[in-house]
Amino acid sequence: MDDVLIVGAGPVGLMLACELGLSGVRPIVLEKRTEPSEQPRANGLGGQIIELLDHRGLLERFSEGSPFAGRAPGFPFGSVPLRFDGLDDIPLRLLLIQQPRVERLLAERAIELGAEIRRGCEVVSLAQDTEGVTLGLADGQVRRARYVVGCDGGRSLLRELAGIDFPGTTDDHVLRLGHFSTDGVADPFKPLELAGLEPGWNRTPRGRVLLTSLQHGVLIAGVREKGEPQDGPVTIEDFHAAVRRVLGRELPLGEPIWLSSTAAQARLAERYQAGRVFLAGDAAHLFPAGGSALNVGMTDAANLGWKLAAALHGRAPEGLLGTYEAERRPAAERALVQTRAQAALDRLDDEDGAALRELLAEVFAYEQPARHLATLLHGSDGRYGSAPHPLVGHFVPDLALKDGRRLAELMRAGRPVLLDLGGGAELDGAALDGSELDGSELGGRAEVGGGWIDVVSARADDPPADALLIRPDGYVAWAGSSGMPEAVSAWFTPSPA
Ligand SMILES: Cc1cc2nc3c(=O)[nH]c(=O)nc-3n(C[C@H](O)[C@H](O)[C@H](O)COP(=O)(O)OP(=O)(O)OC[C@H]3O[C@@H](n4cnc5c(N)ncnc54)[C@H](O)[C@@H]3O)c2cc1C
Repeated sequence: MDDVLIVGAGPVGLMLACELGLSGVRPIVLEKRTEPSEQPRANGLGGQIIELLDHRGLLERFSEGSPFAGRAPGFPFGSVPLRFDGLDDIPLRLLLIQQPRVERLLAERAIELGAEIRRGCEVVSLAQDTEGVTLGLADGQVRRARYVVGCDGGRSLLRELAGIDFPGTTDDHVLRLGHFSTDGVADPFKPLELAGLEPGWNRTPRGRVLLTSLQHGVLIAGVREKGEPQDGPVTIEDFHAAVRRVLGRELPLGEPIWLSSTAAQARLAERYQAGRVFLAGDAAHLFPAGGSALNVGMTDAANLGWKLAAALHGRAPEGLLGTYEAERRPAAERALVQTRAQAALDRLDDEDGAALRELLAEVFAYEQPARHLATLLHGSDGRYGSAPHPLVGHFVPDLALKDGRRLAELMRAGRPVLLDLGGGAELDGAALDGSELDGSELGGRAEVGGGWIDVVSARADDPPADALLIRPDGYVAWAGSSGMPEAVSAWFTPSPA
């Protein structure tokens, strides 16, 4: 029997494979496509996932060649401009990177860490019992594993086979999106400006036309109008016809690289777990506005990875696997709130809508609303659980340590970290589930109930707490100077058999 079968080698399945690999589990990823997808869906990553890539030492690889990587200067919130000028301490960072590159880098890393990616393997059936899950493949093969994770996208068959509903709404507008080659064109916007259009969204009484460019040599054009996504592939004639319907004239768009048609959906799985089957990424949630899906989906993977590994290694406290849904479903609910709000703002094509957007643009220019929206878009407005110390349940802030390292560097191995920042009241001599943690062990690794915690002593200016206990996914499990042994038991000590 395999330990974990992941269905789907999209960004979320591959991220999960990396996280499991880091925790010493060798998952098998079953992917129905025979070749990696070259569909240029997402153009970038934004939010907390960027800090997590930094924790894993991957940010440099991901940023290489990116046209933009850094603090977000602003965000088109439902086509209302939101600017972060002068707000240097907001957490929201953006990284422009094409989805096929994200998938390529994650696949490389997953393989480095021992995962196996099997392409051409389409899952068609699922059955489970108390010991494991059996998957049937289209070619007649059968595979069995202790856990299965459906990372098989918005139309997830795993979700259906596990009997999990996916309630929500589908927009009654269709968006036709196209990437067009502008190689050899000096100023790709020139002909469009001559046609009287602005970069960004252009509204007409019949819909909207999007024109933008996020990478050299590629113009992105979109046409949104009332209607349903078309069956079958979108041809260049379909695209030009949609432009004519909405704009009333032709556009000089150049050679198409990729064309698609979709309707935005807002959906959330009723459960993220059915027995030994879990859902993550688009299989669990679909957001009706751009920019949040990969952040939420890849963070799901980081949340689930170490917990599954702990269960497989026999070091999971009771209820640990249940915290995946308890933590990640509310995070998706918050992302649904802000993306639904963006979709609603975007959709109002009449004069009332224009007035609402104008007024909101004025409100967004104030510092507090801008900060609030930056935190929402970042995915850090919520908190896992509640505890007296304000850091607990939040992603750990990066700290410059006096020994020259950053806190993020302590998280490379994907293990829990107990960081003594100098207050250490209860750390020296504190019992970690029977194994004494004394001064001599600081800087080493503490064995806790058959597991491990990296124990690091470091100093920092203005430390946010005397000490921090950080989960492998970067969230603070405990902070302060007392109560640490209880937090260790709650998160990292297996329940007695
Ligand atoms: C036009 C467009 C633009 C977007 N832009 C952004 C953006 O800028 N930022 C952002 O964050 N998100 C964006 N998104 C959303 C983003 O692309 C998705 O959220 C992301 O792909 C979800 O990843 P996933 O791994 O959950 O699912 P997918 O990427 O859908 O991967 C699922 C995988 O499962 C495989 N699979 C499915 N069924 C089976 C089966 N039965 N057996 C085996 N394998 C199976 C599929 O072949 C696929 O490879 C955009 C989406 C679109 C369409």
